[in-house]
Amino acid sequence: MGIKELSHAAERKAFSTAIDGFLKHIKKKDYADRSETYCKLVDTAATFWGKGANKEKMEAAKKALSNPDNRWVKFLNRVIDETDPHYAKTLLLNLGYEAFFRGTKMIRANREKYGCNIPWLILFDPTMACNMHCVGCWSGTYGHKANLSYEDMDKIVTQGKELGVYLYMMTGGEPTVRMKDIFKLAEKHNDCFFGLYSNSTLITDELAEKVRQLGNITFMLSLEGTPDTNDIRRGEGHYAAVMKAMDILREHGIVFGTSVCYTRQNIEAVTSDDFFHLLEEKGARFGFYFHFMPVGNNAVPELMPTVEQRKYIIDRIRYVRSDKCDFGFFPMDFQNDGEYVGGCIAGGRNYFHINSNGDAEPCVFIHFSDSNIHDKSILEMLQSPLFMEYRKGQPFNRNQLRPCPMLENPTLLRKMVHDTGAHQTNMESPESVEHLCEKCDDYAKEWAPVAEEVWSKQKHEPKAYVNYSKEHVEHPELAAFQTEDDVTDAARKDPSLAAYRSDSDVTGQQHFTEPVYRNEEPLKKEA
Ligand code: SF4
Repeated sequence: MGIKELSHAAERKAFSTAIDGFLKHIKKKDYADRSETYCKLVDTAATFWGKGANKEKMEAAKKALSNPDNRWVKFLNRVIDETDPHYAKTLLLNLGYEAFFRGTKMIRANREKYGCNIPWLILFDPTMACNMHCVGCWSGTYGHKANLSYEDMDKIVTQGKELGVYLYMMTGGEPTVRMKDIFKLAEKHNDCFFGLYSNSTLITDELAEKVRQLGNITFMLSLEGTPDTNDIRRGEGHYAAVMKAMDILREHGIVFGTSVCYTRQNIEAVTSDDFFHLLEEKGARFGFYFHFMPVGNNAVPELMPTVEQRKYIIDRIRYVRSDKCDFGFFPMDFQNDGEYVGGCIAGGRNYFHINSNGDAEPCVFIHFSDSNIHDKSILEMLQSPLFMEYRKGQPFNRNQLRPCPMLENPTLLRKMVHDTGAHQTNMESPESVEHLCEKCDDYAKEWAPVAEEVWSKQKHEPKAYVNYSKEHVEHPELAAFQTEDDVTDAARKDPSLAAYRSDSDVTGQQHFTEPVYRNEEPLKKEA
């Protein structure tokens, strides 16, 4: 063991002891006392972060945590009370210490060292095999035969960890089809945390017990509203299978969440009070909401939400997370929460996707690639022309309600794919970038002025740390998706937008020359 490994092992041991003490202390269910313990934990985290700690945010967190009646403190207490103690400890160690603290420090250093994006999370597909055939499922477009071998998956995690990546997610296909290999992987890399997007149908008591013992796997179960709205797309009996899987996971004390694809048809059902109550009662504690993407030759673009529906879901999800609401459930909206993560997170900026053929794709929805795990390392993939174009282009839009180079700024994906010669990765039914982006052109034009209006009314705080490239390119192509005065009037009136623009924005063009989005002093000091 080298010095680095030794100090890592010692640090992990110290955290493990601290977590044991923390869990023992909070077992008592004395909630006032717990709040004090949470605050001490924030102090410990601040010490670990050293200069990187954001004092203001830490103080705000302590203020909230010291109030046992705070909505999110009650939520935290509830999650702790219902989680298996061994599972809770492993989650805190792997997701908290390894991924959040140690991994983040490594990632930030490696971004500087290698001059490319280094992600916080890698998503991969163990298999394309799936026992279901959902209408409009993008993953079906790959075909159902491809698999990553155990060695491929081990290579992804081993090389990812060297760069600081300790969080891995799996989709497919249905990942639980490969559960034997996934257990082997989770056992070997017992310092990482794994999240599986699953259709629920193969989750049994036996599987859940093994997950509880390992402690480093969670599930995001696909569900789309009521039995009717769910089963119409996913097949009869699927809703009942999800309910059963939720009961099993809850009984084993496993923290789990949901994955919802919202469409024009199901948006009300997946955001209703009844739906949130159901998720709370069944024990799901977090959920990812995904905007339906018209990916693949067989996609049904008519399922894309209307502009009004998109406006609605922005407000609805934020309301559910606000203090005005008290569902025991935390939803995240992949398409509309861009401002909390600086816009598009793909291309390795915070994540990327490796499909079951081994192709490295910038995002699970972008089926284009110029590198493969079978002949490149993870670092080489991150330095590939396509990923470097992503890096140069991010953020793709000043307005982070329009973050995507495909959905809201389709000209940009066309350009990146053409400039890099990336090939499409749908093996069964090849789809050109033109065909894909054409399906988004009208949507993007329609959404642009509405997104500008919504964005201009919101408050936006500059981030303490940003990971955009210093070689950021401007996007004059976006002019085609703007109305004459979309940026101008709204931006002029709203001083909070000043941090997001240069003076020349008032011409209506997109520019990103403002230092708040650069890895430059003084922001770098915070990192
Ligand atoms: S490519 Fe689009 S869908 Fe994927 S992370 Fe970026 S903004 Fe989101």
